[in-house]
Amino acid sequence: MNMLTKGRPTKQEENLIMPDQTGTQTDTGNRALMVDEPLIFERGSADRSGIDLPEAPAVENRLGGLDRSTDIGLPGLSEAETVRHYTRLSRQNYAIDVGLFPLGSCTMKHNPRLNEKMARLKGFADIHPLQPMESVQGALQTIYELADWLKKLTGMPAVAMSPKAGAHGELCGILAIRSALEARGDAREVILVPESAHGTNPATAAFAGYKVEDIPANDAGRVDLEALKARLGPDVAGVMITNPNTCGLFEPDMKAISDAVHEAGGLVYCDGANFNAIVGRVRPGDLGVDAMHINLHKTFSTPHGGGGPGSGPVVFSEALAPYAPLPFVEINEEGHYFLVEEETAEDHHESSFGRMVAFHGQMGMFTRALTYMLSHGADGLKQVSEDAVLNANYILRQLEDILDAPFAHSGPCMHEALFSDKGFSNELSTLDLAKGMIDEGYHPMTMYFPLVVHGAMLVEPTETESKAAIDEFIGAFRSVAKRAKAGDEALKTAPHHAPRRRLDETLAARKPILVWKEPEEFAEAAE
Ligand SMILES: *Cc1c(COP(=O)(O)O)cnc(C)c1O
Repeated sequence: MNMLTKGRPTKQEENLIMPDQTGTQTDTGNRALMVDEPLIFERGSADRSGIDLPEAPAVENRLGGLDRSTDIGLPGLSEAETVRHYTRLSRQNYAIDVGLFPLGSCTMKHNPRLNEKMARLKGFADIHPLQPMESVQGALQTIYELADWLKKLTGMPAVAMSPKAGAHGELCGILAIRSALEARGDAREVILVPESAHGTNPATAAFAGYKVEDIPANDAGRVDLEALKARLGPDVAGVMITNPNTCGLFEPDMKAISDAVHEAGGLVYCDGANFNAIVGRVRPGDLGVDAMHINLHKTFSTPHGGGGPGSGPVVFSEALAPYAPLPFVEINEEGHYFLVEEETAEDHHESSFGRMVAFHGQMGMFTRALTYMLSHGADGLKQVSEDAVLNANYILRQLEDILDAPFAHSGPCMHEALFSDKGFSNELSTLDLAKGMIDEGYHPMTMYFPLVVHGAMLVEPTETESKAAIDEFIGAFRSVAKRAKAGDEALKTAPHHAPRRRLDETLAARKPILVWKEPEEFAEAAE
């Protein structure tokens, strides 16, 4: 019997690995370098130890009688076994350092190593938010300069640095809108959100106590300006518009939208998650935006995915600046930086709605984002957005003969290309194509979003991919798309070459089984 699996059923018996087409399934479940790693409890055991410790001297009542009386049951392994276990697990992850991450809407770009080097400098990495200000001048200057870049790039007069992600920034912006309206005694109750919006937009508006109403899209995938105007009125607090929108398209009527909303007494929130497409080219302030979050972890390259970390500063117009949350970093006449922690009549902080977080925000992300900006310079950032848009349009044009591209007729896209599942046969779906991409060694694209397109596939290469890397991706995508159109039965059970087959799309993420219990029959077999 295989020592490793200690009487566990084989992977075939568990039906976790189905025989592949060629019938060359291995006994261990391993496939050459792709190792089917058991749990650490299965590898090690409680009666082994990887180290020799001297017998502890007997000390009377060392822990006041609270000494542990039973073993804690952690498995013992040698150092090599431990290192291999975790290294093997890490190799089962997909990461931007392993390959192109085509996720649309998420802007998963390469994070230059220089950013990491800067973020790890002791003066940034080893400081505490309650340190005296004289001892953290460099960190405060970093926040101040990053804030300055964000204001200049967006053409907005104020920025709150503390929100910790895009969704948190949305809440910050909507709370500022609520405060401004309440301050003028005109609370209002409805926020209008386009049908194609990211789910966080309606969730944010509802969380802040607003009723959410849809704005329809027109045939070109943009906000229907006339429908929006028709809905505006004294009950509408504002709109949340994503620009470029989640179909990867610029909203050419943005200025007209803002003017109409302002005329009706409302305020304009812009979801800036797609800023990567326009940074250095368009200033949202010029389009009449009152508040917009910027996902530093998307546009400015700081790493994300797997749940964090993020950073979502929010820029504000003159109308909303007084309501922005504390704290702010300011500089005094002697050139010393300090945190503004309370409302003050100076520099528009007189009516702050409060705080989003205990301290000032995500220092590590600030350092990475500013490093990215300084290493590109203003001209470089303009080239970033141009190259991101060029790469996405290259993908759109290279795939539109094989995949339906619902808005390709209305002109070029911005930073992401959108396709639908129209023309797939044999009941194959977008999900099947995505699973087929895993077999080809790629993380799938964003699926079934935006909701306005059937079986949506949203692909965003970002500017950090070379033409060669994009051509390889296009080759893989074309081949799987061809199979989907031809109705290839094998796609329905893909992936065939991953460590696990199809997991339950919902339960695998929502109810993962994270506690290991030795099944009784294995315990018996081990005796
Ligand atoms: C990513 C994203 C968000 C949310 O940002 P987080 O940083 O993940 O909270 C909101 N809207 C759009 C369009 C996005 O792509």
